[in-house]
Amino acid sequence: MTSLLLPVAAAVAVLGIPALRRPLISSWAIGIAGKQLPTIGETERIALEAGTVWWEGDLFSGKPNWRKLTDFKVRELSEDEQEFLNGPTEKLCSMLDDFDIAQRRDLPPAVWTFIKKNKFFGMIIPKEHGGLGFSAAAHSAVVAKISSVSFTAAVTVMVPNSLGPGELLLRYGTKAQKDHYLRRLATGEEIPCFGLTEPHAGSDAANGKSFGVVAHGTHNGKKTLGIKLTFSKRYITLAPVATVVGLAFRLTDPNHLLGDADDLGITLALLPRKTKGLVIGKRHDPMGAPFQNGPVEGREVFIPMDYIIGGKPQIGNGWRMLMECLSAGRGISLPSLSVGAAQLSTRAISAYGLVREQFGLPIAKFEGVRERMADTFANTYMMNATRRLTAGAVDAGEHPSVASAIAKAYLTEGARAALNNGMDIMAGAAICKGPKNIFARIYSAIPIGITVEGANILTRSLIVFGQGAIRCHPYLQDEVAAIQGKDVAAFDKAIFGHLWHTTRNGLRAFGHAVTFGHFVSVPESLRPYRRHVQKLTRLSAAFAFAADMGLLSLGGALKRKEYLSGRYADAFAWLYLASATLKQAHDDGFIPAHKPLVDWVLTKAEYEIEQALKGVLANLPNRLAAWKARALGFPFGFHAAQPTDRQNDKVVDAVMADDGKVREALTTEIAIPDAASPGLGQLEDAYRRTVATAEARKKLTKMVRLGTVEGATLEAQLAFAVDAKLLDKTDAKALFEAHMARDEAIQVAAFSKEDHAELK
Ligand SMILES: Cc1cc2nc3c(=O)[nH]c(=O)nc-3n(C[C@H](O)[C@H](O)[C@H](O)COP(=O)(O)OP(=O)(O)OC[C@H]3O[C@@H](n4cnc5c(N)ncnc54)[C@H](O)[C@@H]3O)c2cc1C
Repeated sequence: MTSLLLPVAAAVAVLGIPALRRPLISSWAIGIAGKQLPTIGETERIALEAGTVWWEGDLFSGKPNWRKLTDFKVRELSEDEQEFLNGPTEKLCSMLDDFDIAQRRDLPPAVWTFIKKNKFFGMIIPKEHGGLGFSAAAHSAVVAKISSVSFTAAVTVMVPNSLGPGELLLRYGTKAQKDHYLRRLATGEEIPCFGLTEPHAGSDAANGKSFGVVAHGTHNGKKTLGIKLTFSKRYITLAPVATVVGLAFRLTDPNHLLGDADDLGITLALLPRKTKGLVIGKRHDPMGAPFQNGPVEGREVFIPMDYIIGGKPQIGNGWRMLMECLSAGRGISLPSLSVGAAQLSTRAISAYGLVREQFGLPIAKFEGVRERMADTFANTYMMNATRRLTAGAVDAGEHPSVASAIAKAYLTEGARAALNNGMDIMAGAAICKGPKNIFARIYSAIPIGITVEGANILTRSLIVFGQGAIRCHPYLQDEVAAIQGKDVAAFDKAIFGHLWHTTRNGLRAFGHAVTFGHFVSVPESLRPYRRHVQKLTRLSAAFAFAADMGLLSLGGALKRKEYLSGRYADAFAWLYLASATLKQAHDDGFIPAHKPLVDWVLTKAEYEIEQALKGVLANLPNRLAAWKARALGFPFGFHAAQPTDRQNDKVVDAVMADDGKVREALTTEIAIPDAASPGLGQLEDAYRRTVATAEARKKLTKMVRLGTVEGATLEAQLAFAVDAKLLDKTDAKALFEAHMARDEAIQVAAFSKEDHAELK
């Protein structure tokens, strides 16, 4: 017996006593780990380090502290912000005729003037610099509202308020630059654009070929030290009309005019449009969406040093500046635009489902249609919850790089799904273009959101889990730093901490799995969704353990295993999306009528997380690691299911209820045009009239069926029923008007040959 226990005791002593473990194990292991570590370049390191870790860290830990989430206060809109939303934003929306914008290939001059005058371009610029000084919540709400009416207008407003000259100047600009530009940017006197992308540098933006050489030249008639810039940028939003152009380029100093270094690194500068040699003005045509977008080029364009954003001290810091801004901004613009699109789809298909009748029934009665409706409605709830939570984090001072990447990638995909459903449900009426078409223009523009600010394939497979693991894992970043610094003591601390963390998560995952999560303690604040919280906690532990099995067995090679990291990303992202949904339900005070939506999303999330992990474990090359993760995390297999038919029905019934309360709550962010407006305005009018006359219509239909009312047309039946005193005159009038409104709402445009030839 003693002979058996001795090796165990020796192992425990070595592992448990750092003074023994460091020379015997860690000094040897650090060398092996160093070989496994992929080389992390400077730009990659900066991208990995940008931003902060927030609630995502909890989800990654395997033991989320749900109370932290429910205690977190999401900033509400201030009175000023709410007034801006109800006033100028509503007014702008009423001025936007997206069909007309498509025909003229630009916003009308009156709209440009209104946008500038009301400082839509200055939402993120503080009041002391002449801007609106809005919170992320308000900025996001404004973008969501405009995008529901016009994608072109939304992008035009969005770009100066996201990653670009305004934000860069605010954070890094010199006083003189701030004084010169910020007030003019806020009032639209200056229109900014920012050029990072190049023909050979899209996703791999840090590898641009644009370059600047420190040189003497002449500026405003004076010989001065500056930079000779050569660049070729493309896809630059607002470039054709920009008055000030932000550029990223690599700066070199071969003649050592600034110091000893040759390569000074990526640097950012702002060039006024009038800069000699700047070639600008041509337009790309992104999916026919007529927002301004085009190339910017120049050869040996001379600029003075004070065009560098932040001046000389910021030379070489360009990449860090961009990544730091992106870590917050990515979570606002495109997620808000996506919510606008999803809410538009929800609003339109819930109306069309009632107004459009086929086979003698409103199409919302058909289960095939209901399945798509439920998916759209519930995802719209989840998307808005995620938008709100992520903007809330930014307002709380976070720069949540991983949460914002999740929000960008998964909400733009959510918008694409919501619009696909919308197109399929509205069918011919969504396909035939014209002033009444609600979806065609935003539907064709949706790939733009998928591609910009980090294309989704890359964001899912490289950033969400890749960056997420390094930033959110409690030990990984310390391990990498220790390996790179060859610090055995720090490595020892991190790696053994990591091993204990993995062991604890494995045991926790197993404990939760065999008890089906029933013993997970759930804070009082989430009681109404106790079972879902227990399941999500269980899945968080299983995810964390499976992530460690991948990280420990593959090491740095996991970075290139995008099949796996994409699936890990899905599991991680759905944990975040589900937690945002729970947070929304909590902050709304657990409204009973919203329960079907919340239940649906959480069921879906649990299914998606399980499926993603199932895929990981089926494909992890190290089968022993996969077996361990499966045995501890899913000893009884994978049983989570998609939302049931009953759940679909409950969601649709909740949204289609006559009181319209859930429908309203799901679509509060968007603008609803007046009843006379072609498209959503007329459809809403038909919907309202149909709901209001439902009882009278039922009565009339019954009388016609029984033969008490006769007539070949509705008009004849109504006249008969009124004459026979079977129907009130007012009801008859309302019924007829509702019928006419429905007829109007389902019509599509038809063009003369000449008009059709002119159509854009
Ligand atoms: C309408 C529009 C407006 C834009 N506005 C601006 C602007 O104002 N300023 C600006 O600087 N840029 C702008 N862009 C550029 C935009 O950010 C880039 O298009 C984007 O970064 C992707 O580059 P790319 O199109 O060259 O795709 P590529 O880099 O060629 O990528 C092609 C595909 O490969 C995938 N991919 C690439 N690398 C990896 C990887 N390692 N792992 C997995 N997948 C990968 C991508 O996800 C993508 O799906 C705009 C683009 C468009 C279309």
